[in-house]
Amino acid sequence: MKRNFASQQEIVEALSSISKEHKVISSQRRLKELLSKLLRGKSVGERRLRKIAIDSGIVNLKILTRESRDIFNLDRCPVCDNRIEVIGRKDIWGEITKTEFICRKCGYRSGIKRRIPTKYVFYFKRH
Ligand SMILES: [Zn+2]
Repeated sequence: MKRNFASQQEIVEALSSISKEHKVISSQRRLKELLSKLLRGKSVGERRLRKIAIDSGIVNLKILTRESRDIFNLDRCPVCDNRIEVIGRKDIWGEITKTEFICRKCGYRSGIKRRIPTKYVFYFKRH
């Protein structure tokens, strides 16, 4: 059986109807469950769903993370695929003492040690 993927427009419409009944969805899996009912069997991956949700402007995303042992070495945001911006903080002698990696699109941030997203909370914006 061929898998039938939902289009971006179908996903945005489903998100918008979920937003009429919910203010907060406490996990990505829960959002996907709600969405799947509205999409009637059409599928959407969690990563794609998250990107479309961020791009749609319907939700604000809260990203919970934990620090890993690995050094941060990504060019792209692990949450939304946007470019990562590197910010170096200098001390009074001009030496960089602290480096942060941030995504301006979804708000993900990490220090030198890479932070791994563990959970996503979706807040629907009020219209
Ligand atoms: Zn991002």
